Amino acid sequence: MISTPFEEDHKATQRRYPLCPKCKTELDNRISRGFLVKNVLFFLPLKRYICYKCQRKRYVFH
Ligand SMILES: [Zn+2]
Repeated sequence: MISTPFEEDHKATQRRYPLCPKCKTELDNRISRGFLVKNVLFFLPLKRYICYKCQRKRYVFH
């Protein structure tokens, strides 16, 4: 099997988790969204994560 540069690039850019905008830590801890987002902003592709490094809950667009 010959691995092409394209495949390498694809693997490198593939990311499972969003990054914290502040400390660039992977946000791999999803938490349930707040009442407002769940009931009012439910049409937005928002996901809520918690960053344990800066102790902040963040909404991330997907
Ligand atoms: Zn952070």
